[in-house]
Amino acid sequence: KEGLTRTRQNLVQKVEELITGRTRIDEELFEELEEILISADVGAETALELVERLRQQVKTQKIADPALVKGLLEAEIARMLGTEAVGVDLTKGPTVLLVVGVNGVGKTTTIGKLAQRWKDEGKKVLLAAGDTFRAAAIDQLEIWGQRVGVDVIRHQEGSDPSAVAFDAVQAAISRGVDVLIMDTAGRLHNKGHLMNELKKVTRVLDRALPGAPHEVLLVLDATTGQNAINQARIFGEVVGVTGIALTKLDGTAKGGVVLSIHGELNVPVKFIGVGERVEDLRDFDPQEFARALFG
Ligand code: GDP
Repeated sequence: KEGLTRTRQNLVQKVEELITGRTRIDEELFEELEEILISADVGAETALELVERLRQQVKTQKIADPALVKGLLEAEIARMLGTEAVGVDLTKGPTVLLVVGVNGVGKTTTIGKLAQRWKDEGKKVLLAAGDTFRAAAIDQLEIWGQRVGVDVIRHQEGSDPSAVAFDAVQAAISRGVDVLIMDTAGRLHNKGHLMNELKKVTRVLDRALPGAPHEVLLVLDATTGQNAINQARIFGEVVGVTGIALTKLDGTAKGGVVLSIHGELNVPVKFIGVGERVEDLRDFDPQEFARALFG
């Protein structure tokens, strides 16, 4: 529930304003509802689909009272999101988790949060500093490693990330690690290069440990709204993204992007970031999200 206040205001309060004082459900109401959904970053395609489902409900159930629209919308959103919460399987160790995403979205922070959570669960965690392009990124990961109390495999700035990947997997195997979390570079302005680098890293991981990476977690910043969807498409063309961590849901009115991800990307949201502190990472539970959205 925390963190969704602004999205709730942006979406649900507008829906309430839309239906109060109305006497009937007409096409104008549906159109305005679609606008509200789009303005809350639900995404045009998903907004259209949601409104279409509502139209059907209103028709088949012969609903005439506009006041019922809010409840119908909540139910349709819950239905659209489904009931399944998808986590990360850490039982087959070492599980290799490759974390990708554009700079600034919260990759390093999310890695730190995950490391803390899994360490607290009694797992042996190892980090790998795969963003060798930026010395600051390597240092930042090292700081998280120290804070959480887990080792970090690092090479010099400018070295080949695939070499880091290879060493990290070797270390993970020999040290009996449960989960290896590898950071990667996120310079999207040099797209071709970045994508080749990511491809090479995944190839090397698989060579070092067949089946790795077991998870490719794409970190997206909720405050960027529909831009996040574009980023997901770009990364999806290169690496098989298996899950999304959606950060900065706190303080953004664009939480509707969760619906857009669900409706348009076909990749599950696995984690949500609701603040900067190490404990501010949650498993994404779709039903809880739908309930929280409607307060
Ligand atoms: P990276 O460049 O992708 O590794 O991004 P960082 O992990 O360095 O994060 C960039 C900024 O976003 C930092 O100031 C983080 O504290 C902040 N941040 C990360 N996740 C969240 C979140 O869930 N909520 C908020 N409010 N800030 C976050």
